[in-house]
Order: sequence, then structure tokens, then C-alpha cells
Amino acid sequence: MHVEAQQKHFGGFFFSCNRATATFAHRTNHKKVVDEDHVSSSSSSSPSFEAFCDPLQSQQSSKLKPAGAMRNGRGTSEQWAAAAPGVRPRAASVRRRLVLAFALAVLTLVAVTAAAVALGVRFEECGGPEEGAAATAGPGRRGGERAEEEAAAAPWRASRLPGSLRPRHYDLRVAVRMDNFTFAGDVSIDVECVNATRFVVLHAHALQVSSVSVTANRPGGGAVRVQRHFLFPANQMLVLVLHRELKAPRTYRVNVTFDAAIEDELLGFFRSSYTLDGERRYLAVTQFSPTHARKAFPCFDEPAYKATFSLSLRHDPQYTSLANMPVERGGGDDDDGGGDDGWTTRRFARTPRMSTYYLAWAVCNFTSRETRGDGGVAIRLFARPDAVASGAGDYSLHIAKRLLGFYQDFFQVQYSLPKLDLLAVPKHPYAAMENWGLSVFVEQKILLDARVSSASYRMELTMVVVHEICHQWFGDLVTPVWWEDVWLKEGFAHYFEYVGTDFLFPKWNMEKQRFLTDVLHEVMLLDGLSSSHAISQEVQDAADIHRVFDWIAYKKGAALIRMLANVMGQRLFRKGLNDYLLSHMYGNAARDDLWRKLSEAMRSEGQGIDIGAVMDRWTLQMGYPVVTISKNRSERFATRYITVSQEHFLYGQDGRGNSSSLQWQVPLTVAMGNGSWVCSERLIWIHNKTETHRVSEMDDETWLLGNINQTGYFRVNYDLQNWKLLIQQLRTNPQVISVGNRAGLIDDAFNLARCRISDVIINEGRKHRTSSPYIRYHARTPSSGCLTMRCAARRAGYLPQGVPLQLIGYLAEEAAFLPWHAASRALYQLDKLLDRTDDYALFSDYVLKQVASRYHQMGWPSNAANGDGSVLRASYQTEELQRELIMLACSFGNKQCHRQAVGYISDWISSNKNRLLNLSLTSDLVAEQDAIDVVVHVGRNPRGRNLAWRFFRDKWDVLNARYGEALFMNSRLINGVTEFLNTDAELYELKDFIQSNGVGAGPALARALEVVEGNVRWHRLHRRHFYQWLRKAPSPAHR
Ligand SMILES: [Zn+2]
Repeated sequence: MHVEAQQKHFGGFFFSCNRATATFAHRTNHKKVVDEDHVSSSSSSSPSFEAFCDPLQSQQSSKLKPAGAMRNGRGTSEQWAAAAPGVRPRAASVRRRLVLAFALAVLTLVAVTAAAVALGVRFEECGGPEEGAAATAGPGRRGGERAEEEAAAAPWRASRLPGSLRPRHYDLRVAVRMDNFTFAGDVSIDVECVNATRFVVLHAHALQVSSVSVTANRPGGGAVRVQRHFLFPANQMLVLVLHRELKAPRTYRVNVTFDAAIEDELLGFFRSSYTLDGERRYLAVTQFSPTHARKAFPCFDEPAYKATFSLSLRHDPQYTSLANMPVERGGGDDDDGGGDDGWTTRRFARTPRMSTYYLAWAVCNFTSRETRGDGGVAIRLFARPDAVASGAGDYSLHIAKRLLGFYQDFFQVQYSLPKLDLLAVPKHPYAAMENWGLSVFVEQKILLDARVSSASYRMELTMVVVHEICHQWFGDLVTPVWWEDVWLKEGFAHYFEYVGTDFLFPKWNMEKQRFLTDVLHEVMLLDGLSSSHAISQEVQDAADIHRVFDWIAYKKGAALIRMLANVMGQRLFRKGLNDYLLSHMYGNAARDDLWRKLSEAMRSEGQGIDIGAVMDRWTLQMGYPVVTISKNRSERFATRYITVSQEHFLYGQDGRGNSSSLQWQVPLTVAMGNGSWVCSERLIWIHNKTETHRVSEMDDETWLLGNINQTGYFRVNYDLQNWKLLIQQLRTNPQVISVGNRAGLIDDAFNLARCRISDVIINEGRKHRTSSPYIRYHARTPSSGCLTMRCAARRAGYLPQGVPLQLIGYLAEEAAFLPWHAASRALYQLDKLLDRTDDYALFSDYVLKQVASRYHQMGWPSNAANGDGSVLRASYQTEELQRELIMLACSFGNKQCHRQAVGYISDWISSNKNRLLNLSLTSDLVAEQDAIDVVVHVGRNPRGRNLAWRFFRDKWDVLNARYGEALFMNSRLINGVTEFLNTDAELYELKDFIQSNGVGAGPALARALEVVEGNVRWHRLHRRHFYQWLRKAPSPAHR
């Protein structure tokens, strides 16, 4: 799944790239035949099928965990399975059992009420049918056991499926009516019983179920009578209560017929529309991830319940239909002829074993273009007829073909299906969704008019296609066991956006450069907040599942994978991935499965790194460390030793008291330099809080540089003397330090300076409170004074305000885009904090001084006035740097820049009708995300900020109803209207707003609160130093 990009990609890379060309010694043949008996592997933390089918394991674990903490609901189902036959009288009739159950329920109710009153325990209200609510609870019973027993007697009350039945194959028939937007279906599910049970529990939501039946799949097995069936809406489940038990390991067939509406809400099986030749046309398409397949048919809607699917669609012959697999019966894909009854019926080929949320189908009037990939895979692009005719999909089709070959080569695993369709739809809740063989894209992310589209538009679109095609392996073929490890697919797909784009456009140098500003720096901002969370997060409720799709999963996931790839080296990394994919294809995997395969790859070359032990620190703990490197001056051989320490980097320390105890295993690369030379990097593993390491001989002029090319997911700080030497180096000869590290130094320095001064004191172990005179003294000490006081910079998480400002003094010498991009992000951040202060001109003048010479040198694009299609004339470097400098100059008030901009804008509006037409072609409705863009843009303008903030609060009910579930849009909006708030009064307004409206608003508001608190704190603690430094600032170097 590809979410909306939070910031625009501007494209633009200009450095040649040495792509790794390692290949494998052997090529493994792709397993074409689907192995139905293939079971997923398991890990200790995320048990999959095998694990929860093992009664021994479940009995051991069920004693220890409350039901709510079980990630697969396995303990509950098995305890029920094991205990139920024993407690029932052997000869009890059904009626007697019912009477007993009822009596037990009444007794239980009395006992529970008494216990609750006595112990003051609060029970959650349960809103389902009364049947089966036979929880047993006695005095002294532990809550976990009680919950387990309740779940055993009524397994639909647990939030996860009980695991007694496992689906093997679905035969799904759906009749779609586009005239009244309804559909009717029936599904036959072959299930294997793994634990004896009297209940069939599966997912169904917003479906009208008309009939159910269960039959035994063996000769003479016959029907299993269904006592009753009911929906349990609280857990979106359908329950069949049977007259007799299903026995393990027999197989059965469960039949359900149902109907429902084709909704207008972009989830499940939904409809949307567009106009063609002035006429409104409709289409209906699915979006099942993460938990919406259950809105289209009853199914075991959890990712580990993989099965094969045979789908038939019936619809009006004037429409065509698509699904994951090619058509097997009912005419070719272009045959729209009706059957005898006036309907078209298309039966699609059986899918490989896959998760329900990757199933997809569409009914539409689209046309297509087709190409062939390696091995004869048909790649087709479907879109509205006018877009296909204009060639708007040709670019994506072309790169999709190349990418399929790229991934097959990189992973050494063939694409699994005979075809891959890319479907462009006018409305979609995400940028795209990677359904296997039928990936769906919102039009703006796949259609492109090459004549008028800007380079940045093309870049953004390219990355979405690269992302979705990567998922055909990481996601579709090998699926995370459960949503807690969604980063296992999203982190990979996001990382490969950069690797795959490098393959298509090697000169853009995405993975080495653009990754830093767009992924690494971006996510470290979020992950440095105490409201952040570990990348692997436990998910209990279905309602919480959508929350795991956040920037931490995508961007931190990608950053960790990149760090790992660099530590392992490309060849071993690829070898490990190949082994992982081959071992788990058509199944599920957890993070430990990946670590195991990567460790094996390392061991095969005699490198004994336990990848799991290293990575658990990074995936199970929130945040990241700041590593401080300083020359060791107290040792005997001082000139050969460095001291390295690590601590949890946090912008504010208020949130979690014990977080400073976090530690990581840090792969730190270090290089040394002096004036014009730099010695090659060295990898040092940091395991402890503080360590001493021997390096080459250093003199007083030798600087140290950590995290070479910023491959690591952490920040680096130095002693002040080292910062001075690095700044000096940048001013005299910046090329000695790599582009990535120049950008990294800027990003680290500004963020280290944003930290709270009292962290230093608290971490020193001195028992001062924030309000103590000691802190206040520090907080009010001018930065120059603080420099002499050892408190500064010696500890991680702190830098005087002057250091980053001094650092960007070299920018006049900077010809590369990336460091400018890193600096501008930090400067805009400061701008938001300062633009309403009295001394603002001091700051904007300083920035303009840094920008002036390079801005005048680069000027404006000479072809800007005559506009479109000329982007390729300028190199990316020129185009991107020019744009960045123009934006900086105009934003900070360069008058010449303003005049020029006004001139161009009026020219553009009068001459560039083509471009506007193109925009209106891609969507005839204002896309929902555009509405958010408008609000966020108003908020970016200093004069619009109060307006945006007020609008947001006034319209919260409407906005939340509309975007609440689309969490990314929601958090983008919340961030956009709050990030500039920085006074006590505004903080109070925000707190007040959260208190009165915040229930259910998710983590975005908690994050906003922490950011605004940080802003207020910065003003209180740092603004003075900041302006003091600026008043004394030396003039920047001019050419
Ligand atoms: Zn994705």
C-alpha cells in the first residue's frame, strides 16, 4: 500500500552511481505449482499457523498470558478445545446441555456481579447475543483465565479468530448490479478442522446473510446441521453454531449466501464515477487491506489464513471485469458478449495461496494497453478510455515492465502470476494498493502526460509504481504474519522505491542521497518525540489495525533495512533476501524469520553477527540513539583513542521517565580527516553506554566524522572542538566530506540544538528539577558562556544554537542540492517558530546572506516563461538547486526574487492552459486529499496560520468524519495546522481542543501536542541565545 506522500518529491539527482552488480552463483527455479500443504513458518514472537496448531505450545503459553495479549488467539481456542469435551457429561443431550449452560450463565452472572462489587472491578459491556455468554468466574480466579474461558465458550467474543478451522480454498461467486449498486454472492469455503469445535467463526461485516450450511468433505459425510447462525457486529464476525462437533483433522465445506450494497465509501467493494463525453460512467472496485474483505464476502480475514481463491463475476455485458488472475472461462478479457440470460459470467483462474486482503476485482468500462515482461508475463494498464487513448498510461506501463525484470533479477525469484494489471481509478483511499496481479492506483499516481508533466511529478509517480511492484514479492508472495510487523512489507517497499528508481534512473542517485532528506531526516523528527512508538507494535483490536500504517512503519522500516543492507554488504544482503523469499513464498513470515535468514547468509561467509539480537534493539524499542564521539584526552595514548557514548535522543524528556535507559547495538562508521585528506572509514560496533576505541593517530587539527554517508539510523554529536574543525573543513574544502555527510551534519546540528537544555543536567545524574535555579541559570546563560561550561556538547542531545548557524555559513560554497535541501528544511522549521517575533529580521537577514551569492549566481531558469516540457534541458542538479534557492530567497524576503516570481506567475497563468487542462483531466472531482492540501497551504502562510487553525477547530467534526479513517491524511492535516503554534496561549488552545474533542483522534494529536510543547519550550529556553548569536554573527564567506 502506498500512502499519500507527505511532502512533494522534487526529483533531481545528478551524481553518478556505482550500482552493485553482484549476482548469485546459482539461480533457483521458481516453484510454479501451488503447494496447498505448505504451512507458514513461525517465530517465537509472532506465532503463525503451525504455532497455534500445536496444543502443547498453547497450553504452556495460555497459563501465562491474558487472552487479550495473545497475538493469534491460539490459547483461547485450544484451551476450549482441550477442556470442553472433558467437562461435558458424556451422555448429556443437547437440551440438557443447554439447560446446564443457561444455569451456569445465571450463576456466573451472580458470581461476577458479586466479585465485581467486592473487588471494585469494572467490566466492559458486551453487546452481543446472550447465547453462549457463559463465562465462569469465581473468587480468586485470575482475569486472564476468566477471559480465556469466556472466549472458549463464545470464541466470537475474542477479537481474533479462534484458530480451530483453517481455510484451504474459497469458491466465490459474485453477481454485481451496477444499475442499483448492489451485489449478491455465495461462497463455499473448504476448511480444515485443526481443533474440534462446534462453532464456525469467520469475519463478515455489513453483509446480509441469507443462508448457511456445512457439509463434511468425505464420502457419505453429509450435512452438519446448523443450530443457528448470527452476526456479532462488535468483532465483525459471523458465527455458525452447529449441532455436533467438527473433528480434527477432517475437512468440511462451509457455504454462505449473502448480499450487500456497493458502497460509496472507498473501502470494501465500492463504487466511483467519472465523465466520458459528457456522460457519467460508474465503476466498482475493491479495497480490502487491511480488514475490508469481510465487507465483500464472509472469510477468515486475517493475513495468516492464506488460501486459494476461485472467483466468478456476473455482471451486465456492457461492463468488463478484472481480478487477480486471468479469465479462465467466459470469453477472453476483451469479450464483452452476454450469456443466454443477458448476463456475462467470467470465471477467473484459481489464485496461488494468498491472504484475503490481497484479493481484488473490478467491474468497469475501461480499456487497456499491454506489454510483455520477461518470461511472457502480460503487463496491462487499464484506465478510462480517453486516458488510454491519449497514451497517459504508457510511461507507467514501460517502467512496470522494466521493474518486473529488475526485481526478478535482484531477488532471484520469478514473478508468481501469469499477468500483472495496473488499474487507474479516479478515486481511491490511498495512492495505490498492491493487490496481487491487480494493483490499483489513483489516477494521479499512474497517469502522466509526458509533454506537460514536471520532473517532480514524474519522480513521485515513478516511486509509487516502484513501490507497488516491490510488494508483489514483499507482501503478496511473503506476507507478514500479523499487522504488528507491517513494516516488514512497507519498510521494504519504501526502501526499494529508492533502489528501484536508481535502477531506472541511475543518475538520480536516490538511495545514496535523496533517501537522506526524504526518509531518514524526516522520520528522525517523528521518532525523536517521546510520543513515538516501536516499529513493531502490538495490535489488539481490529479497529487499531489501520494505525500501524504510519510513517514509523514506512520510513523507519526503510531506514533500518538500509542500515542493515550497508552493514551486511549488498551481496550477502541479497543472498539473505533470496533465501527468505524462497523459504516463505506463498506463506507468512515474522521479523525473526527474516533475521534468521540474514544471519545465515552472514554465517555462510564466516561472519558471526546475530542479526536478530542487533535488530531487536532497533525494532522493539522506540526512538534511536545519539552517538557522541570525542577524542579521548585522558588516556595515556590520547592521540590514538576516541570515546564513544550513546543515549536515547529525545527532543523533550518529559514523556517517559525510563526511556534514557534504552541502549542499542550501533554500527558506527568513523572516518578522520585533516585539511585536504580523509582516511578511509572504519566500522565500530557500539554495545555499551560508553566505550573507548583505538583509531589511527590524530593531531590537534584532525577531525572525526561519524556515520559515513548517513547509512546508520542515529544522530552523531562531537566535542565542540571537533565541530569547529568540521566547520573549518567545510569552509575551506567541502568536497572532502561526502554530499550525504554534508547534508547529515546540517540536519544533526540543527536537531541537536533543538533539544532541551535540562536533558543534559538530568542525564548527568544531578538531582535538579527543571525549575531549580541551576537549570534556570543554564537556560539563561548566553551560548558563548555555555560553551565554556562543559555542559554543552560534551553530552549528547545538546548543542549551542550558534553551531548549526555557523555550520551553514559555508553554504555559499555549496554547489550540491542535498545540503541545501537539508538546510532549508531546518530553516523553514525555525522560520515557523520565529516569524511572529520582534527580532525576526535578524534571522531572515542572516539566512538571506547565506543564500544571496548562490542565488544570484544560479538565477532563474531562462526557459521558465515559455514553460512546459523543457525540464530535461536543465540537469537535475541545476533544476533542483535553482528551485531550492528561489524558494529560500523568496520565502525570506529577497525583493528581487519577489518581483521575478510575480512576473512569472502572471505569465504562467495567461500562457499555460495546457497544464491546467492536464490537471483537470486526471480527476473530474476535487480529490479528497486536495482539500487537505488547501488547508495546509493556508497554514504555511504566516498570515493564514490563525485562519487555518481556527478553521480546523470549527470544522473538526466534518473533517474527522471524512478523514478520520484515512490516518495519513488526518495526521498531515493535524500537523499542518498545529506545527507553527508556539505561544503559551496557543498551547492552551490546543490542550483545550484535545480535551474537548480528542477522543478517538489517534496518535496525531498526541504528537502535535508534543511538538507545540517543544516549540513553546524552545522559545523559553533558546530564543534568546539564538538571537544573541545572530547579533554577533560574523559575515558569511563571500566569493
Ligand atoms: Zn506499500
